[in-house]
Amino acid sequence: MENPFPILGFDVGGTKVAVSLVLSDGTLVASSRVPNKEREPDDVLPAMVSAGKSLLADAGMTRDDLKAVGVCTPSPLDFKNGIVMAPSNLKKWKHVPIRDYLSEAFGVRAFFDNDSNASGLAEWLFGSGVGTQDMLYISISTGIGAGVIANGRLVRGATCDAGEVGHMILDVNGPLCNCGLRGCWEAFSGGRAIAQRVQRELANSPNSAVVQLAGGNIDNIDMKTISDAVEANDPYACAIWDEMMERHAQAIGMLHNIFNPSIIALGTIAIQCGDLFMKPLLERVKKYGWKQPREACSIVPGKLGSKLGEYAGASVALYALHELGEWDLPWQNN
Ligand SMILES: [Zn+2]
Repeated sequence: MENPFPILGFDVGGTKVAVSLVLSDGTLVASSRVPNKEREPDDVLPAMVSAGKSLLADAGMTRDDLKAVGVCTPSPLDFKNGIVMAPSNLKKWKHVPIRDYLSEAFGVRAFFDNDSNASGLAEWLFGSGVGTQDMLYISISTGIGAGVIANGRLVRGATCDAGEVGHMILDVNGPLCNCGLRGCWEAFSGGRAIAQRVQRELANSPNSAVVQLAGGNIDNIDMKTISDAVEANDPYACAIWDEMMERHAQAIGMLHNIFNPSIIALGTIAIQCGDLFMKPLLERVKKYGWKQPREACSIVPGKLGSKLGEYAGASVALYALHELGEWDLPWQNN
């Protein structure tokens, strides 16, 4: 087995960029963060490069040791040309050729993908999906998106939009979604949609337990406030939670039947809330999919947890090298 080689990973998010030095055997050597809130890409890109160079120097490595760079950003993006296309939480990043910029800066090949795919790859290569051929990683945060691994390959689709599961329509008469459609899974159960709904419904209820938990300020209501109110058995919050879990179960039941995965790993809220989230989900999902695919699948909180972002960028590069026949999956050598 060849010696593990180093990869630099960059996970570009709306408030920060996670920069990490990862070895191909999954060792996270070191990581740092570059602030990205409301900043111009012309400022952030050079800061990303110097953060990457510092990680290499601190580990006693140079650019010559580096095998490749991997980077992920939110969608939409031009996958083929490695360009970020002004995602909703990176509005200043208009048509930024991030892949080639990093490739030139480090003098190695750079590989690029969207953050859902990158998270799915990270959880597959180094988290709960290790050794499987079919898995989904679903991030349930402000929005909902998935990275889909089928038959041992990442599913990108024709325009790199595969895995946009948050915009499956669960009820065409449902609430309006940010994407312009009506009744998307995310419009029912995404963190932003739920918080906005509760803020609207409790606008005139200052004594509600949820508003109290938000310090009396309706604008502070978020998923954490709502889950705290559920734990305190507040009837309104429990009713919202039940509705939310029903929609999660409906969507995940569909995904069972479409992909027949052996693992569905859930990110963010499932990790933060644990049983409060997982128990009602596992109970309700039985109604929404066939028994055989359901029984073949473990639905679990993601294993990498808060380390996911540190593996995401590097996993993009590792998977690209795997597709090129230059790197075996971690379990292929065993
Ligand atoms: Zn939508």
